[in-house]
Amino acid sequence: MNAGSWWPWNWTSPNFARGIHPVAHKEATADSPIRFLPTPVRVTLPLQQHAGAAADLVVKPRDKVMWGDLVAKPRDERISAGVHSPVTGVVRPLTAVSLPNGKHASAVVVETEEGTPSGDVIWSALFGGEWPDTRPNDLTKDDILKSISAAGIVGLGGAAFPTHVKLQPAADRPVQTLLVNGCECEPFLTADDRLMREASRAIVAGARLAMIACGARELVIAIEDNKPEAIAAMRSALDGVAAARIVVCPTKYPMGGERQLIPAVFGRSVPTGGYPHDIGIVVVNVGTAAAIAAAVLRNRPLTHRVITVTGGGIRNPGNLLVPLGTSLQDLIDACGGLNDDARRVIAGGPMMGFTVTDLSVPVTKGTGGLTIFTQADLDAEAETACIRCGRCLDVCPLGLMPTRIAQAVRHDQLDLARRLDLEACCECGCCAYECPARVPLVQYLRTGKQAVNDRRHQPQSVASGGGMHHD
Ligand code: SF4
Ligand code: SF4
Repeated sequence: MNAGSWWPWNWTSPNFARGIHPVAHKEATADSPIRFLPTPVRVTLPLQQHAGAAADLVVKPRDKVMWGDLVAKPRDERISAGVHSPVTGVVRPLTAVSLPNGKHASAVVVETEEGTPSGDVIWSALFGGEWPDTRPNDLTKDDILKSISAAGIVGLGGAAFPTHVKLQPAADRPVQTLLVNGCECEPFLTADDRLMREASRAIVAGARLAMIACGARELVIAIEDNKPEAIAAMRSALDGVAAARIVVCPTKYPMGGERQLIPAVFGRSVPTGGYPHDIGIVVVNVGTAAAIAAAVLRNRPLTHRVITVTGGGIRNPGNLLVPLGTSLQDLIDACGGLNDDARRVIAGGPMMGFTVTDLSVPVTKGTGGLTIFTQADLDAEAETACIRCGRCLDVCPLGLMPTRIAQAVRHDQLDLARRLDLEACCECGCCAYECPARVPLVQYLRTGKQAVNDRRHQPQSVASGGGMHHD
């Protein structure tokens, strides 16, 4: 393998039916404790950084806001989420911004003023200190759901689906199990790993609250076996908790996708076209669970998240607690800036992330990482002609035919692409990773899905960025 590159010269020979074993590249940040971003001079808060309807502004220019104040409330539709200020400052006029996934949204800018707590103070307020050892029986399901909704919590695994909605499946779908997803299978990213090591008790407290909210009787925390320290920390935090267990999963991509994780943990599949709650399971990401604890037990809305900044193109990679709305440029500056050979910035990880060209783009609730590739990485990616090896078919976790679908999209044959199940694609990137010809299959599939959406005149969820849920 080219020492500087992300793509392998020789693809691995899988001895499993579906999924892949990409080179993890997590060593650059896995042992870096979470550090704190200096307070940015301004934050840009998109009104839609979640699945569902945009939030409605409740502030006006020149208003003064404090850390945690509501700036936009959820729309009066069931699926929406509010937005809160992560800084103390002054509201500026509404603006339009690009989002990390390339879509666009209106956004409110808050210029920071004196009085914004520093990152370490905010970390302590959100996740530090003691957490109740016992299940908080005095809180009702409704209290918890109201707090989660009021805090603007959405799935932090990437799909950004409003959590209070996810925790309330239809009455005829009783929930047996809350599955907390700590797999973080995406290469390079280590934010969830660090959160499990450094905020394990907050995660467990939040998971217990989520159990009450959704009516689950069992708690399962799934973690890939390449995170032994996180497994140990979570085991310790779970000690003495009834009806709770940790399942250690083999490291395999895309283990963190709900539809891959559930069969791996429970030996049961989510029905095609259905949801985990159809089989009595609700899945939340570890970051979401920690945010629930901070919201319900400490009255702290979702204003910050942990992000991994990594890749060969960044000078000082690490994991950072970041105010939502921070520009990617501020994030890069806080990590020492780009190396001279940095060539591509990806919001997210290399498998499911989005290439970003405008570094004024803000961090949103669904942004889990920033991966910066070098020229050597890009050289290893150069596309050649398809050799019809069939490897993309072998690894697709959904059993699709990526090369045929990509070809149909390339030739603008959207009906054919749909007949080949284009819309089922979860954009996991396994096919592109395994392709020895470096055909950018997932880009074609993403383009095709967007074209189908455009044709229907139904805007795709701004924040979902795809179909694989890790939340
Ligand atoms: S990106 Fe889509 S087609 Fe490719 S492996 Fe993943 S699910 Fe299959
Ligand atoms: S697209 Fe790539 S993986 Fe798929 S058949 Fe062609 S060369 Fe093989």
